[in-house]
Parts: sequence; C-alpha cells; structure tokens
Amino acid sequence: MLYNVIIIGSGPAGHTAALYLARSNLNPLMLEGDSSGDVISGGLLTTTKTVENYPGFPEGVDGYELTERFKQQSVRFGTIVISETATKITKNEDGTFTIQTPQTEYHTKTIIISTGSTPNRLYVPGYDTFWHKGISTCAVCDGGLPCYRNVPIAVVGGGDSACEEALHLSHTASKVYLIHRRDTLRASKIMIDRVLKNPKIVPIWNNEVIEIKGGDHIEKLILKNTVSEDSTYAITELEVTGLFVAIGHVPNSQFVKGLIETDKAGYIVTNEKKETNVEGIWAAGDVQDPHYRQAITAAGSGCMAALNVEKWLH
Ligand code: NAP
Repeated sequence: MLYNVIIIGSGPAGHTAALYLARSNLNPLMLEGDSSGDVISGGLLTTTKTVENYPGFPEGVDGYELTERFKQQSVRFGTIVISETATKITKNEDGTFTIQTPQTEYHTKTIIISTGSTPNRLYVPGYDTFWHKGISTCAVCDGGLPCYRNVPIAVVGGGDSACEEALHLSHTASKVYLIHRRDTLRASKIMIDRVLKNPKIVPIWNNEVIEIKGGDHIEKLILKNTVSEDSTYAITELEVTGLFVAIGHVPNSQFVKGLIETDKAGYIVTNEKKETNVEGIWAAGDVQDPHYRQAITAAGSGCMAALNVEKWLH
C-alpha cells in the first residue's frame, strides 16, 4: 500500500500535522514510536507533570493527558497510529519513500518528521530516583510549580539553555545556583551579562554534580570541584529543593543521517515552509527547532508542514 503521507513522531507537532491531514481526507499514517527508541510515544511533553503554558487550559493540564487528547483528536478524524519506531528512510527511484521499522516497512508519497529531541541527562546516583521529584529539564514547563517556588534551586550547565533556565527560575525561586563545570559560560554574551547581573543567581564555577540526595523530594546535591587537587575541599554539599538540568538536547534525527541535511548539532534544516532538502519530506517540532522548543511552537510548525504537504500532494 502506498500512503499519501506518513508522520514520524507523535508529540504536538506530529499530532497537529495528523489532525490537519486527516481532516483533508489524506488518511495519514503515524508511526508514534515505542519503547525501543528515543522517540517516545507522545513525545517529551508526556514527561511534564503540569503544562501551564498551553492555551486553553487555565488550570494547567498534565502533559500525558494533553498528548492523549492530541491523539484522540487526530484518531477521531481518521489518523492511523502505529506504535513502531522508524529506523530508516529510503528514497525510491519513482520519488516515493520506504520507511523501515524493526517490524516491517511502509511506502509513502510524503513524510513529515516530528521526532523531537531528547534532553541530555546526568549519569549520577539519584538522577532516576528524583526524576520529577525535584529534577526537571524544562524551567518554562515546571518552574512555576509550587514545589519550586520560594526555595533554592540549582541549574546545571553553561550554555544558553542553562542561562535561560536560571533567568526564568529567578522570578520564582528564592535563589538560583548555576553550577557549571568550568569557569566560563559558553552562552551568548547578552545571556551571560543578564545572568551575572541577576542578584538572585549565584554561579558555582568549576563544579559538577556527582550525586543527588533526598527523601521524597530532592534535598541536596553533592558537588565535586573539577579543578581542586586537594580532595579535602573538592567535595561539598549544596542544599536545594530542585535541580534543572540544561546540558544540551540531542535532536532525534540520527535515523535520517546521510539522507536529510542537518546542522552541526543534528537539527534538521528546514525552510519557512518546513521543507527539508529532500523533496517530499518536511520536518516540524523540536527536531528542527534549536531555539523555541515549546509545545505550542511545535504544534504550529506541524500545522505549517501539513498545509504544505496537502498543497504538494494536490
Ligand atoms: P550547549 O550550548 O551545548 O551547552 C551545554 C552546556 O552543558 C555546556 O556549557 C556544557 O559544558 C554543559 N555540559 C554538557 N554536558 C555536561 C555534563 N555531563 N555535565 C555538566 N555539564 C555539561 O547546549 P544548550 O545550552 O542547550 O544550547 C544548544 C543550542 O541552542 C546552542 O546553539 C544555543 O545557542 C541555542 N540556544 C539558544 C537560545 C537562545 O538564543 N535564546 C536558548 C537556548 C539554546 P561545557 O561548556 O564545559 O562544554
């Protein structure tokens, strides 16, 4: 069977694209991902406890519930959702595409890639225990929750994301420790200036988190100085109630390497129509967005890609 369009990935970008394409009677197929790969069903949003910045939910909404609603809506109009992970795309001689999954292969005229990105994690004791019990990778999503308000919080990282997280959290936390493994931030100059001028942000240079401790929720971090040669002073404890990890994201584009153009960091390069360099393939959401990475911007780009696919098919 040759599909009109296959959407790879099932976050806000993928489901918005599916909704538009299904309502245009194009019978989209969605490969939503499964536990075998980085592309988790529903995308990163499912890992956010309360989404307070998606319009239409004045009381906030659980990230998992929101993505379930996305799915119900695109299925209601005819999207076929399959829990498989795309592992390879091949362009065929007649201009159509073959998508491989570990289970089978699919044939399609067009593709929208909306596989999102995966935040880098810390590989330290306590990370898994306190994930969502004080650890987050999104200050915009979680920073406003009561457990992070008026308490000391730490951010780890030294790039633009870490600076952005620290600045965002400085509005609500009592104090924000910015823990960086070196003594220079790699963020843009303007972000560095803002961070260093902010009286609520306290940089902790040349330190890395080596353990996270607490009870039901994070209580303290064990830090190791990265330059001290004196082991007596190298290990310290820092009492915090939250840890925001901002040490980069990896766009889930590895499976299209060699076929589709990506930037140095692996983000798929798209134009204003969300077209990739391969005719017949569009990309939407975080996999092509190193800047905004919000559910609402992902949904918007999914809509753009879908409208352009529809035009192209017609
Ligand atoms: P990034 O620039 O790659 O920075 C990652 C930071 O995490 C670096 O400071 C790195 O330390 C640190 N790090 C990496 N692994 C670590 C580990 N295991 N333990 C401790 N620290 C670790 O990532 P990003 O900040 O997410 O930015 C990604 C891209 O998006 C950049 O191009 C950035 O400019 C862009 N961005 C732009 C904006 C904006 O313009 N508003 C906002 C966010 C992101 P080292 O410095 O020692 O390597």
